[in-house]
Order: sequence, then structure tokens, then C-alpha cells
Amino acid sequence: MAQQYAIGVDIGGTNIVAAVVAEDGRVLSRLSTPTEAERGPENGIRRICELVERAESDAEIPSGDVAGIGIGCTGPLDLERGRVINPYTLPTWDDVPLVEAVSNRFGLPVVLLNDCDVAALGEHWVGAGKGTRNMLYITVGTGIGGGIIANGHLYRGVGLTAGEIGHHVIDINGPKCYCGARGCWEMLAAAPAIARAAAEAAQEGSLLLAMAGGNREKITAKLVADAAGRGDPVAGEIMRRTAFYLGTGVANLLNILAPDVVVMGGGVMQSWSLLAPGMMETIRARSGMVPFEHIRIVPAALKLNAGVIGAARALFDHLRGEL
Ligand SMILES: [Zn+2]
Repeated sequence: MAQQYAIGVDIGGTNIVAAVVAEDGRVLSRLSTPTEAERGPENGIRRICELVERAESDAEIPSGDVAGIGIGCTGPLDLERGRVINPYTLPTWDDVPLVEAVSNRFGLPVVLLNDCDVAALGEHWVGAGKGTRNMLYITVGTGIGGGIIANGHLYRGVGLTAGEIGHHVIDINGPKCYCGARGCWEMLAAAPAIARAAAEAAQEGSLLLAMAGGNREKITAKLVADAAGRGDPVAGEIMRRTAFYLGTGVANLLNILAPDVVVMGGGVMQSWSLLAPGMMETIRARSGMVPFEHIRIVPAALKLNAGVIGAARALFDHLRGEL
């Protein structure tokens, strides 16, 4: 049977990944290369196309069997025009016609989505949200992003921009956010907020500061989690507060969406065992209008492959007219 494969591409600030994915979600081949966005969009597009070709040849499938290419990319993006407008995390990539360039190169259908939406599709297809009808995907890393699966399909919204859950406000008097609001969820609970709080509060002679080589500027969210795990009291308090903020945001979203499952990924959620108890306690206390006991809240399952698998799924959905 022809056209039973799609190529998924995941473009992040650090790496670009390409994979050949079968119609049942299996990954047949996977390759990555450093993004190095500052080398310019033309160079980047050429290397993306080379990566796609190599992934295809590694998978040892006839090229006629590839139905198209799905791309997930760190945003902002102009999704209606298939363009990347992201000089922030992809320096020099300002108004780049990515869909047009890749589809001209291969003569295949190409779709572009934001990185959170493809990860949501991947987790829903073959990951932690498999088999559910309504799913909320949350990624907590440098920022907080989300993807909403409603009735089995990605919920898109006007301009295909839905799911910016990191910018729902938790503290109306909180720190100013680049989006224009104050006290957005990601300003309080994402990795930079954790690192910033620890840099301010780390005490002289503490384990936390020693682990950063005595340099407050070297404190990262990962380091705070490690120090908390090793008993540093300030790091522990910051992680407890992060769990509270995460739980508050998840509870807000449960009250609005009442999904079957919430899947949580991203770097900060690697500290699941440290964050989950406080987060669950907060969610339980603040989601009284929905049946908390019937909603599963689980860590992401696909790790680094969620993006490419979900990008391939987006392509298959697009061809069926279901995206
Ligand atoms: Zn914001």
C-alpha cells in the first residue's frame, strides 16, 4: 500500500529532529542536527531538507510511500501562512516561508504547527493520552505551553493560536510578562522563574550555592531541583512554591476543560516525584467543580520523540481533512 508513512520534523532552539513515522505511530528512523539558527534561514532550510532525505533513506522505504511532511516549530509562527516569525529563539528567522520552501523542494504536502501542538498530538496518538477523547497537554520548560485535544482532535481557535496556557494569569499583581500581562503562569512556574527565585534566595554557605560553584548566575532550575532532592531547605521551599503555582494553573484549566487526562512534559516536569505531591494537593483543593478523581494527571511518555511523532500525525490528519 502506497503512502503509509509521514516524515515528522521538530524544530527547536537547540536541535532539529526528523523521523519517518508509520501510519500506526511507529518511528522507523530518527536523526537530529544542531539548529544553529544564526547561520540563517536558507542554510537552515537546506539542512532540514537534507535531514528529511537522510531519515527517508535510513528508513529504507520507497520515496513514493511518503505521504508528506509535518513540521512542529518553536513559535511565534504565522500558521495560516506557514511562516516562522521567531527571531527570539531562532535568531535571523523572521518571516521565513518554511512550508512553501519545503513543499517546493519535495513536491509533497507540508503542514506547520507549533511545537506544543505537535507534542500534544504525539502524546494523544501513541503516548500518555492514548485512547482518550479529551486531553490537555502541558509542557513546562523555558516557558509553559499547551495543546488541547477536544473530541479526539486538536483544538485550534482563531488564527490557529489556541492553547497559550502559559499566559493565563495566576497573580494579577505579579511580574510583568513579555506578552503584556502581569503574573502569567509561566512567569511564576517555568524554569527561569525557579532559577531567578533561587538566585535571589540562596544563602551563603548553602548546598544550593555550592552546587552552582558559588555563582548565583549559574543556578538553573535543574540545579534547584537537584539541591532540593539533596535536602537544601531554600531549594526545597522554591520547589514547593513551584508545585503550588503549577497546581493552581492546572486546577484553573481543569475547571475550564474537564479533560480525561492531563499530560505534563518539559524539562521542569522531569522533577515529577519532587513536584507531584504538592501539585496534586493544590489541584485537588482547587478543582471542586469537576470530578478530580476521574481525571488522570500523568507525566509525558514519549520524551524526545513526542514532537516528531505528533508532527507526522498532524500530516496524516491534514490529509484526511481533520486538522
Ligand atoms: Zn504572558
